[in-house]
Amino acid sequence: MQGIIINDQCSGCGVCVQVCPFSALSVDQNTARVNENCQLCGVCIQACPEQAIALPTLDSKIKKDMSDYQGVWIFAEQKNSHPLAVTYELIGEGRKIADALKEPLTVVLFGYELSEAVEAIARCETDRVIVMEDEKLASYHDEYYAHALTGLVNKYQPAVLLMGGTTNGRSLAPRVAVRLGTGLTADCTELEVDLERHCLLQTQPAMGGNIMATIVCQYQRPQMATVRPKVFSRVNPGPEIRAEIVHESMDLALLPVKLKQIERVEEHLDSIPIDEADIVVTGGRGLGSKENYHKVEELAHLLGGAAGASRAVVDEGWAPYARQVGQTGRTVSPKVYIACGVSGAVQHLIGMRSAETIIAINKNPDAPIFQIADYGFIGDVNEILSELIKDLKKR
Ligand code: FAD
Repeated sequence: MQGIIINDQCSGCGVCVQVCPFSALSVDQNTARVNENCQLCGVCIQACPEQAIALPTLDSKIKKDMSDYQGVWIFAEQKNSHPLAVTYELIGEGRKIADALKEPLTVVLFGYELSEAVEAIARCETDRVIVMEDEKLASYHDEYYAHALTGLVNKYQPAVLLMGGTTNGRSLAPRVAVRLGTGLTADCTELEVDLERHCLLQTQPAMGGNIMATIVCQYQRPQMATVRPKVFSRVNPGPEIRAEIVHESMDLALLPVKLKQIERVEEHLDSIPIDEADIVVTGGRGLGSKENYHKVEELAHLLGGAAGASRAVVDEGWAPYARQVGQTGRTVSPKVYIACGVSGAVQHLIGMRSAETIIAINKNPDAPIFQIADYGFIGDVNEILSELIKDLKKR
């Protein structure tokens, strides 16, 4: 996709040619022309004195030629050159989709000094790894990442692009989708291939998780989706490098960005992150106080798990936001989830309903949490927690 010149209004003054950071404009026969270098950065639109340049509209009637788009892409996330778990989950699922479509699987990786991550990913069952290493990509930046990924998609034209439904993935995916003029299904929990239509069926929980909606992106490419972490099984790197490794670069210094990173502060967690723990013990408002929340922490510690919190508990200041489970917190999918004094509001359930076994403690037998719990204790949460802790300590 490229910017559009409104020929009737263009005077051929050449201001756009001077300001374009990508050499994407020229003037020919007194009219500006846009070439394939255009990155839709919008600098020319602001500079044009005649208002003769526009961004393309998202007109779904303009169908793309689907046969130009081939392959399944995974956008990988890494930290300190270690791929995140969701990247391995996406590679496993991406492999199945690519095999069903009989197309190659590519993993795209951005960052700086990435040799360990590149090797780990190239040892997985993927056909190609495209790496872009640049100091400006060292940590996640909305504009640099969106610009670089959009450029690569325009160059290689994959049919499917999947990202993790992480904080960064949720921020990056819509920016890239808008730039590419394609659709995006957020927070998918199921992906399937419709072989007849040769397209991806993207299923996500809708209406607070009460119905499952399956979405098809029929007329635009790539078909883009973010995928909820911990839903698909992860793959592990094999003993040998199997993928082709392609290094790409882009002159990001030219990109006019509005966001400036002033400081990077590492989050210090005193336990395993809740979305990585096999056992999560979550405290709700029913605990009654911050002191009682310590019992939740103690039980989590004794069980080798992590302590979670409902939003009410975070709002009360009894636990940090990093522990919040739910729609506006984290999604967890542990083997065991113990909800202590949590009512089971729909916004909470969205973040934990895929746990393998759910145990609820609540004094109200009609609390909604019991509707999805496998085991329930009806009684005072603080008494039950104290008993559990005492018993576990004895063992
Ligand atoms: P309450 O709803 O107050 O429930 C307390 C429970 O404890 C009750 O069931 C009660 O019976 C029980 N109880 C009380 N005393 C005892 C006792 N002594 N022993 C045993 N049980 C006892 N919430 C989240 O959790 N995560 C989110 O991400 C989230 N996002 C939201 C996003 C939006 C847009 C909105 C509108 C809301 C969101 N919420 C979220 C808030 C959500 O709607 C609920 O308000 C919240 O989950 C309630 O937390 P709670 O269950 O701890 O408290």
